[in-house]
Amino acid sequence: MNIEVINKMKEIAGEDWVLSDLSQMAGYLYDETEPTIRPKANEDCIVVKPQNALEISEIIKYANEKSISVVPRGGGTGLSGAAIPLTPSIIISLERLNNTIEIDEENLMVTVDCGVTLAALIEKIDKHESLFLPVHSGDDGAQIGGLVVENAGGVRAVKHGIVRNHVKGLEVVLPTGEIVQMGGKLLKNNMGYDLMHLMIGSEGTLGIVTKVIFKLYSKMSNTMTLIASFDNNKDAASVVPRILQQGITPLAAEYLDKINIEKISEHTGLKWPLQDGNAFLIFILDGESEDELFGKSERIAEACESYNALECVIAESSKEQRAILEFRSKVYPAFCDELVETLDIAVAPSLIPDIIDDLTEIAKKYNTITPICGHVGDGNIHNMILRVNGEKPPYFEEIKLEMLQTAMKYGGTVTAEHGTGKIKKKYMGLQYSDREIEIMKGIKRVFDPHNILCPGNIFDN
Ligand SMILES: Cc1cc2nc3c(=O)[nH]c(=O)nc-3n(C[C@H](O)[C@H](O)[C@H](O)COP(=O)(O)OP(=O)(O)OC[C@H]3O[C@@H](n4cnc5c(N)ncnc54)[C@H](O)[C@@H]3O)c2cc1C
Repeated sequence: MNIEVINKMKEIAGEDWVLSDLSQMAGYLYDETEPTIRPKANEDCIVVKPQNALEISEIIKYANEKSISVVPRGGGTGLSGAAIPLTPSIIISLERLNNTIEIDEENLMVTVDCGVTLAALIEKIDKHESLFLPVHSGDDGAQIGGLVVENAGGVRAVKHGIVRNHVKGLEVVLPTGEIVQMGGKLLKNNMGYDLMHLMIGSEGTLGIVTKVIFKLYSKMSNTMTLIASFDNNKDAASVVPRILQQGITPLAAEYLDKINIEKISEHTGLKWPLQDGNAFLIFILDGESEDELFGKSERIAEACESYNALECVIAESSKEQRAILEFRSKVYPAFCDELVETLDIAVAPSLIPDIIDDLTEIAKKYNTITPICGHVGDGNIHNMILRVNGEKPPYFEEIKLEMLQTAMKYGGTVTAEHGTGKIKKKYMGLQYSDREIEIMKGIKRVFDPHNILCPGNIFDN
């Protein structure tokens, strides 16, 4: 990056908060997208770490003047290459905007700086005896701003929904440098178009989120976890919509196939409590009393038995519950070295058994396997395309396209969680008409007339 830009960044953020050597910047060029499919980062970059929205605004105004790309960077845990700079860029690391976590007990809201990590926010809210924030989406190191612009999902969305459902207000630095407030501590707001919800899920392309207001809820005093095993995936996946139809809404309804269970056990040494079965479900319930939870667990167990469950076990103690969640959280590390890509298709929850069947057939056709886990209560599954002899297999593009087309056949989405970013943009036409894509591009142009913010995310320029 040329010296004029380096000096300007030092002038705005201070000498200590600018990195211009490639060796110092290395940790800021890539996210968690699998190395076999991520684009190559442009190394002609500079990393700047502003301390507030005003400094960000100054940086953006300068970038517009000089036509330099800007890439905001959160925790770098994204899985779609969205934080990887493709053009010479000013990378704005938001790590210093991490001071505020302000709980407003009267209105049941929390105001958070964008650079606070998910782990830090959860820890703070968990300490509060009566308040609860359902956002448990993404990697612990993800930042709040990153979670909002990726509209993250995660394990606990069945009962409370995804990030979008909890955001009430945003402070945003627009791509033209103005600082604006969207929404607020309002439960109702129908004035004009809803720009806040456009910003949520915008993948860094429409503005830099600097503050977020989330809605808080009352904490339930009890939780319970139930696991069940099945001989086949059809029974396991079919029972979940039946349970929801009975009016039982768990916090989470997760699916793991046997390949996942074996791989996690082998990789971590952790023990899965159930012996037999080819497909497994994990239900997490919360409620006011133990009696209520036992009642619901029994009804879930009965439903599972009616779908030929082999075993149903209730984990009551917090130690047992933690062990199950820890096991579930190891899917990604267990497969990490073998992955080409984890897809994140979603369909209507009742169609999960059909799509699992189709995906398994497609994998067989290519003489491979596609381990499947997922948030089946949300209709969202993660199926993995694996390496062959350590390499991306020659059929990768073909099998992936076939799998995404299958999601389309069921009226689904290419990406339920990870976002379009850079690695899924070529599939926009699978899900949207030309006119819809044209409208989206028009929105980008209105927000960002010089196309400086995250160019190459969602669309080619
Ligand atoms: C192990 C693991 C588990 C995961 N589990 C889930 C899951 O369950 N559900 C799920 O949905 N995702 C999951 N993810 C994906 C990831 O955690 C989420 O996408 C998360 O929202 C990314 O946040 P981040 O701060 O790391 O963003 P980054 O990766 O840093 O950035 C992502 C995009 O957001 C932009 N950006 C970052 N901060 C801001 C900001 N303040 N304002 C504007 N733009 C910004 C960046 O420019 C980039 O375009 C997982 C990832 C890993 C590695």
